[in-house]
Amino acid sequence: MRTGRRRLLVGAVALVVLSTVGVWVAGSGTAGIRGIAAMIGGGSSGPEDGAVPAGTRLSPFDDGAPAVGKLDAALLAALRKAATDARAKGIEVGVTSGWRSRDYQQGLLDRAVVEHGSLDRARRFVNTPDSSTHVAGKAVDVGPTDAAYWMAQYGPRYGLCQVYSNEVWHYELLTTPGGTCPAMLPDAAG
Ligand SMILES: [Zn+2]
Repeated sequence: MRTGRRRLLVGAVALVVLSTVGVWVAGSGTAGIRGIAAMIGGGSSGPEDGAVPAGTRLSPFDDGAPAVGKLDAALLAALRKAATDARAKGIEVGVTSGWRSRDYQQGLLDRAVVEHGSLDRARRFVNTPDSSTHVAGKAVDVGPTDAAYWMAQYGPRYGLCQVYSNEVWHYELLTTPGGTCPAMLPDAAG
C-alpha cells in the first residue's frame, strides 16, 4: 500500500512537470518551435514539400516531383516551351526550385535569419511564406548558370521574366509571349 501511494505521488509529480513543459511549449508558439527546428537544421522538408536536394536539378517535365508538378499550369507550360527551344540550342534548363510548401519556405527563411543575422537582411534573399511566389506555385528557379543566362535573354519570348536583379535564376510568368517584362526589383525585399 505504501509503495502504491508513492508510485501515485511520483506519477502526480511527473504529470505536473509534463503539463508545465506542455504549457511552456504551447506558450512559445510556432515561432519558437520553428526557431528550434532551424537550429537543428531547418526541419525536415522533403520532396513532398517541394525541396530539391542541393546541387541537383529537376527536369521541367518531371510531373511526379511536387516542386515541378505543383507549379501553376500556365507557368509550367511556358517553362516547358522555353526548355524545349533551349535544348535545341544545346542548353539544358533544369529546375533548382519551384513550388514550395509554406513549412519549407518558413524553414528557408529561418535558416537565412541565422545565416544573415537579422530578419531584415534575410528578407533580401528569402521571402516569407505569405509573400513568396514559390509557395503560390508562380515562380521557378532555373540552372545551371548557362540556362539561367539563356532564360534572362530569351525568357520574355515565352512571357518569363527575371524579377530580381540579384537573382538571375528566378523567373515568373509576368508578360505575354514576346511582351515587355516589368522593371526588375533590386531584391526580394524590394
Ligand atoms: Zn526563386
